[in-house]
Amino acid sequence: MKFANIIVDISHEKLDKTFQYMIPEELEDQIEVGNLVTVPFGRGNRELSGYVIEISDEPAWDVSKLKYLIGIKEQEIKVESVLITLAGFIKERYGCTMSKALKTVIPVRESVKDKEKKYLRLAISREEAAKFYEKYSNRKNTVTRAKLIDELMHVEEIEWSAVVSKMAVSQAVIRGLEQAGIIKIVRSTVFRNPVGHYEQDERRLELNEEQRQVVSGIIRDMDEGNLKPKLIFGVTGSGKTEVYMEIIEHVIAQGKEVIVLIPEISLTFQTIKRFYRRFGDIVSIINSKLSKGERYDQFRRAREGDIKIMIGPRSALFTPFKNLGLIIIDEEHEGAYKSDSVPKYHARDVAIKRAQISHAAVVLGSATPAVSSYYHAKKGHYDLYTLTKRANKLSLPKVDIVDMRQELESGNRDIFSRQLKSLINEKLAKKEQVMLFINRRGYSSFISCRKCGTAVKCPHCDVSLTLHKRSNGDKLICHYCGYQIYAPKTCPSCGSKYIGKFGIGTEQVVEKVRQEFTEARVLRMDFDTTRGKGDYEAILSSFEQYEADILVGTQMIVKGHDFSNVTLVGILAADLSMFSSDYMAGERTFELLTQAAGRAGRGEKAGEVVIQTYNPEENCIVCAANQDYEHFYKNEIEYRELMTYPPVYDMMAILVTDKNEEFADFATKDIANRIEKSNLEGLRIIGPSKASISKINDVYRNVIYIKHPDADILIKVKNAILRYLDMVDAYKNLQIQFDFNPMGIY
Ligand code: ADP
Ligand code: ZN
Ligand code: ZN
Repeated sequence: MKFANIIVDISHEKLDKTFQYMIPEELEDQIEVGNLVTVPFGRGNRELSGYVIEISDEPAWDVSKLKYLIGIKEQEIKVESVLITLAGFIKERYGCTMSKALKTVIPVRESVKDKEKKYLRLAISREEAAKFYEKYSNRKNTVTRAKLIDELMHVEEIEWSAVVSKMAVSQAVIRGLEQAGIIKIVRSTVFRNPVGHYEQDERRLELNEEQRQVVSGIIRDMDEGNLKPKLIFGVTGSGKTEVYMEIIEHVIAQGKEVIVLIPEISLTFQTIKRFYRRFGDIVSIINSKLSKGERYDQFRRAREGDIKIMIGPRSALFTPFKNLGLIIIDEEHEGAYKSDSVPKYHARDVAIKRAQISHAAVVLGSATPAVSSYYHAKKGHYDLYTLTKRANKLSLPKVDIVDMRQELESGNRDIFSRQLKSLINEKLAKKEQVMLFINRRGYSSFISCRKCGTAVKCPHCDVSLTLHKRSNGDKLICHYCGYQIYAPKTCPSCGSKYIGKFGIGTEQVVEKVRQEFTEARVLRMDFDTTRGKGDYEAILSSFEQYEADILVGTQMIVKGHDFSNVTLVGILAADLSMFSSDYMAGERTFELLTQAAGRAGRGEKAGEVVIQTYNPEENCIVCAANQDYEHFYKNEIEYRELMTYPPVYDMMAILVTDKNEEFADFATKDIANRIEKSNLEGLRIIGPSKASISKINDVYRNVIYIKHPDADILIKVKNAILRYLDMVDAYKNLQIQFDFNPMGIY
């Protein structure tokens, strides 16, 4: 008799434990760890599904109390234990239910209809076909039939779509030949390949000396079994992608598989094309625009060994490769690698974990490494490799900071400084292109009163409403709960008429550009203009083909695009991301500015960058202008050390929410007291306090932060809190959320 420990597929805290079932004898040989099975659950024996996470020969309970599981729900896809172990790690560290963690790591198991492909073949022998060919080719109105038969006599089968589109044979002709019994239509299910087909290109760039050293160093480490994570710190354009591809080739040659994480936003046609050219059909990509079915297909192809390289954002990490050799994380500093919904896992940490379990290597790459990654490299937890030169021997752009306070003093109230204006004119005259960048935070424009200073807020949330232009009347919308009203004409608090928009957005910048540079062709790229499938690529390729002179956008335009004709990048308001009072604001601003500056001069012409700011002395701005990461890092890490912030200490945010404000306050205080009483050495507690957005959707939000140099201590505290809440009846419905090393503050 065998027993299966099963995680029942219910996302409820109280049910977040394993249940043991007996395995019916006839299933004993089939069941594996990772199977999705059906079980009778509870008193009513409700049929539920669950994941087998362990199989044992010994019962953990009195056998008379155990039930038999009903059956295997899905035989085909079994989750490797690596992924389940990973789910266990995610549950522990990031504080969520096992069932949520499993849902994160296991490919979507929706039954999806495979796309069918139709092929044409001869239904008769070649000799017979030759006779029909003779007959048809001699008649004027049947030459297309002859043409098709001729083709089919030479190749075994032709895809239906090719026959119709490329050979221009009508469906009627095909049907006619089918009915005459000359050809047949065969159907086969095919895997959906979301990117279509690319010709492989054998040509290789010859690596420069620096690149060669990085490649050989990392390969040597891997071959010697030194699997410490590698960090490649390489300036923009230093040829990191070439380095990745060289290492990937080595790993593939050893018969292993590779996962390449690229932030969704940089997952452009250009990048993907480079990988396809180099590796051909063993490459696949996933992204959030794929349907569930397409995604499922990609994972299935990976499982079945059809593909060896999976490229994608965060979730590509869970590609069910059986023989994983390498995980690459490009732009490893990107905030998008941290999930912003539960479980709030960081792909870098989970990647390192997965690599550990699978004995694979991890290579992180960035021009502006996350402060935490550089810290780990300096501490010797990661091996550091550097690329200091641009691969194509271009110099880094010339960067100028413009103090916008001085502009104002000199009477220029424009959003463009005089310097930026004259440079734009100069570039337009030379037929070169310009990118104008505005921070996303500045995009959400809200309405405030110039007289009493109040901003119009959401009644259900502690946030200002955002203005949305609508043809039937402008609206104010809450981005947190969806509440909306027509924009008021007078101030709701003081009745003043002087109520208006604050903050500039991409739309206004475009308007201003059109006024100022009347001849220029302008493109806009932001969340609103890239909603549809393919919009993003369409704007970029239009700009690349010089169908516009100026591209205005949010951080979307900052990442990883190579436009050889862009010689000027203007950053309109560098400060906006620093206003939020969180410990990572400086890091984010530095990254954004450096990456934005890196967009200028990617071709043969030199690049220039203008950073407009109201805080020209700010460390992160000065260092970004000088492209001086070391200096930035030194300052930043001193501050983190002083404040015992990550990466020096690990930190856990504990978010307590309830509809009843008093109860939320009471519970948060109680939890904080418990933590304090635990008297753990070295543990630091901040709070309890109200979250910076203290109410969302009429739910009150409080927060406690705990910090400790040892992550395990934080996890112990988390588990103790969960146990405590479990014991107290009053807390049965209290919502609590954990965020390990949060990317900002709550
Ligand atoms: P990164 O990923 O570091 O920004 P890329 O790999 O995209 O850099 O390379 C930047 C540019 O330099 C690309 O156009 C690439 O084709 C080119 N490049 C990279 N390595 C070499 C090399 N060894 N010789 C010539 N050009 C190179
Ligand atoms: Zn709201
Ligand atoms: Zn007012």
